[in-house]
Amino acid sequence: MVPEDVLDRARNLLQRYRVCDHCLGRAFLEVDGRDNRERGEKIREALGLGETPPEKCYFCRGLFSKIGEYAEKAEKGLRGYVFRTFRVGTHVPKDLIAREELMWEVVGVKNTETIKKHVNREVGKRIKRAMGKEYDAESPDVEVLVDVEKDDVRVRSNPIYLYGRYRKYAEMPQSKWPCRYCGGRGCGKCEYTGRQWRESVEYYLSDVLLGVTGGRDTKLHAAGREDIDARMLGTGRPFVIEIVEPRIRYGSWEWVRKEINAYGEGKVEVLCLLPSDRKEVQELKSAEYKKTYRAVVECGREITGAELERLGSLKGAVVYQRTPERIRHRRGDALRKRKVLEIRWEPLGGRRFVLYITADPGLYIKEFVSGDNGRTKPSVSEVLGTPCKVARLDVMEVHGGRRCSGT
Ligand SMILES: [Zn+2]
Ligand SMILES: [Zn+2]
Repeated sequence: MVPEDVLDRARNLLQRYRVCDHCLGRAFLEVDGRDNRERGEKIREALGLGETPPEKCYFCRGLFSKIGEYAEKAEKGLRGYVFRTFRVGTHVPKDLIAREELMWEVVGVKNTETIKKHVNREVGKRIKRAMGKEYDAESPDVEVLVDVEKDDVRVRSNPIYLYGRYRKYAEMPQSKWPCRYCGGRGCGKCEYTGRQWRESVEYYLSDVLLGVTGGRDTKLHAAGREDIDARMLGTGRPFVIEIVEPRIRYGSWEWVRKEINAYGEGKVEVLCLLPSDRKEVQELKSAEYKKTYRAVVECGREITGAELERLGSLKGAVVYQRTPERIRHRRGDALRKRKVLEIRWEPLGGRRFVLYITADPGLYIKEFVSGDNGRTKPSVSEVLGTPCKVARLDVMEVHGGRRCSGT
């Protein structure tokens, strides 16, 4: 039974416009029916009217008879991807949206369904049935974009985000560093590698990840970065790597992690590789984690054990640093204030010793040791009364981010 008020409103609509059963049905969701077409048919028959051929429909111009075609095109596109979840989005031309609003004006907007929603659901239903994939409206692996205006269906693969922590044992930058002469295309200067630095943490990750996923590009988002010549040791540095337009996704990435470690042997090691998301990227980017460094310090003269004890006074010290001379040309001059949270040392004999420093993020360690010609105060040189410098600097721990189990 079709309610009386529905019949009144439907009659009103049909007197003014030619409406196909699909569109009639989606204007009255309160009517029972398996789908919009069946709802529309019921209403029309109750009114004793003949069917309007879809292509003559004022509101959709026959759009709904194309659902099968859209779904087929989508399926064809999706065959190029290994994925688990998908979502459908539809672009509807402005004039059809304007007409849809006319329809709501006549029948009221309650219990109605837009063209967009209708197409999304119907195409989605068919893909699900044909391919056995799961619909995920929140964060799908791949997206199907139905463009009604251009009569076109496109498939887009969303990025994969993977969380991990890396160790770095060799001198190299963290990120990709394209050749400055060719911008990455490859030229004689870079021996056609397109790379200024042949190696970087990101290249080690990216070479393997792009290989196994068929992705187009990667973006490395890490919680800070160490100097090129500093090693990253201990529990590693947290990162999320984003794989752009991947073709293949995996349920577990552990075997990929092993591939990366075999490839980067002795240079780059990844301690875990776990599913992540855009939110974690934001967290890492805005994170201010304290860090523990290990510095081999070399001084102008021999340092006795008793003298080293004086370094204890630096624990808890607030260090004032003007922008170091080595980066002033890039950063401009400013004063920063950072706290030394922990400090301990191990004598190496002679003019050298090892210093372990845990500090607020942003403390310039090399300058904290050297004093940077008085631009950093207090400093190790100042406390020991002789010029000292960092001979080797390693990051031992970044205090934050998810732990990799077993580290
Ligand atoms: Zn229609
Ligand atoms: Zn080049």
